Amino acid sequence: MVVRPLDLVGVIRGYMIETQVYCEAKLHYMLTSRGEARVAEGEARRLVEETLRLLRAPRGRGVEFLRAPISARFNDAYIILSPDAIIYVDGSLAGLLEARIRGSLRYYDVDFVTLEVGGLLLEELLGVELDDLKLVLIVARSGEDLREALEEAKVNPFKPERRGSWVRVVRVYDRSGAASRLSHLLEYWLGMRGFKPRPSPSKCGVCEYSSICPAKVMSAQGEA
Ligand code: SF4
Repeated sequence: MVVRPLDLVGVIRGYMIETQVYCEAKLHYMLTSRGEARVAEGEARRLVEETLRLLRAPRGRGVEFLRAPISARFNDAYIILSPDAIIYVDGSLAGLLEARIRGSLRYYDVDFVTLEVGGLLLEELLGVELDDLKLVLIVARSGEDLREALEEAKVNPFKPERRGSWVRVVRVYDRSGAASRLSHLLEYWLGMRGFKPRPSPSKCGVCEYSSICPAKVMSAQGEA
């Protein structure tokens, strides 16, 4: 019997989805060679209930950042993510925030994966459509810069801003795009398709699985 990748872990975690978007082959080698702790279904259900309890707790006025994992079942798979904050404004769920420390202040689509999957999970859990949900990404040069950026975000979290030492990027949650991307990713987890490598010289040159990966490319071959 073929073992589905989902059966190896029980619950898909946020870092696994980020690795999958980066290179699905890398995720596959990570799951099959390193081995990840498996979460039992009962524990996965308990995590979902805990998320619901946290989300349903009453909130105060103004901007509030809640640091809590989001766990839900989507297309037959339990998924758990830990965004850096769930943002409430005047008691209503208004956004999700991720923060990165990176010297260049550059950001990439993959930085928004946790946020957009988080939007889908929240909708699934709460049974509502979050049309106005904002996805906020902060990239800062250092921990100190990040603290400053987070303090500023508590005043006006949804205003795009660029300073010398940090940047705040805001996107509006796009349900249909997010659902289509996640459904495609889940096809791998549910054993409906094999893994697809996403090689590039910059990725493969630092990949711990390059010695076993037939798809690897090195710098002389150019970007894939
Ligand atoms: S060597 Fe390249 S293609 Fe292969 S798993 Fe690593 S990053 Fe992916």
